Amino acid sequence: SSEAGKTQVVVLGAGVIGLTVAHVLSENPKYKVKVVARDLPEDLDSQGFASPWAGANWSPMGEYNERTYRWEKTTFDKFWDMISSGLAIASPSRVFYDERKDLNAMWYKDLVREFRVLGENELPAGFKRGVGFQTVSVCPVSYLPWITKVLASRGVEFARKKVASYGEAAALAGANGVLINATGLGARSLIGLEDKDVYPIRGQTIVVENPKLNEFLCTELGAGDSADATYIIPRPWSNAIGFTTILGGKYQRDNWDTSFSPEDARGILERCTALAPAVADKETRILKHNVGLRPARRGGPRVEAEWVDLPRKTEWLTHEEHASENDTKGTVLVVHAYGFGPAGYQMSWGAAEEVRSLVDAHLNPNQA
Ligand code: FAD
Repeated sequence: SSEAGKTQVVVLGAGVIGLTVAHVLSENPKYKVKVVARDLPEDLDSQGFASPWAGANWSPMGEYNERTYRWEKTTFDKFWDMISSGLAIASPSRVFYDERKDLNAMWYKDLVREFRVLGENELPAGFKRGVGFQTVSVCPVSYLPWITKVLASRGVEFARKKVASYGEAAALAGANGVLINATGLGARSLIGLEDKDVYPIRGQTIVVENPKLNEFLCTELGAGDSADATYIIPRPWSNAIGFTTILGGKYQRDNWDTSFSPEDARGILERCTALAPAVADKETRILKHNVGLRPARRGGPRVEAEWVDLPRKTEWLTHEEHASENDTKGTVLVVHAYGFGPAGYQMSWGAAEEVRSLVDAHLNPNQA
């Protein structure tokens, strides 16, 4: 619905994806942006969403993919520009590989900074090969409040609400409005959408304090079916928790268990100590044990537009608020943005820009 010539945009979901999309769209005064979510950015202890639990840095994951490479490159550069503000830090990085891979031709060598192949003297005991570079990290407990503050300063409204169905979500945007579906794992159970390709990847991590752990170290991520992912992520200063480092982790597909596992914690400490002996220092203080679910999707993230008609009833399953009101007849532009799995932070700005182009192109087809 338009109010004084503005298009109403409802962003459903307040994780890093919903917030970043809201940031990008609210730059355009033609859009009146509202964020609606069950978990809001201040719920930094909620396991109902993934975003509080990320490292969060740029890590090389899996193989080259043209679409996600673009998103990651955009995001890397954006995070790099945030270093001077203190929101992000650069960290020297070493990633270890045990397979025969052409390390000189790694797909991400021009995405990161100062990429090089490591010499033998730079490898921890037991590791045979690796690459070095500079990457960038943010800290969710300061990053999410920062982006929320920017949105509030632009007049973006926030409302807490659990939406039951796709129809109810579309009705929130109203006729001629725009709905951004950034519900992460919620896209699986939104009645009328029910994307069964969406699944969780359980992660467990340990937040520690030890200034010596100031390098990003990891073994190849996203390779094979291993439920272990070993990584050490130094993070920027946060007023809430100071300088911290995240030790990880677990990578358990289709596991919905958000409870703490002491065996997992012991395994993480052992594997991280093999990468960085300083983990076992007496001075290392364990601040927190975290468990979070990465909102993954078979086939990769969904960033896609579709038109839906109102009312969109699934009343045999749920009562749809507003769905029977006359003024909700019409069409809503939906842009989906979910399924980012282990990489929601590192894809956030690039994916949000793609969402913006989809919204602009669908609302103004003649200018595209
Ligand atoms: P979420 O953060 O899950 O947000 C979903 C939002 O939708 C929430 O607000 C939720 O309440 C809302 N919602 C869902 N359903 C409904 C509904 N029906 N009605 C109303 N609201 C609804 N990524 C990186 O890039 N780098 C890292 O280093 C990194 N490390 C990670 C480490 C761990 C241990 C974990 C768990 C994740 C890590 N990730 C990392 C992944 C990253 O956290 C996620 O990809 C990202 O947070 C996903 O953001 P999102 O906004 O899509 O989803």
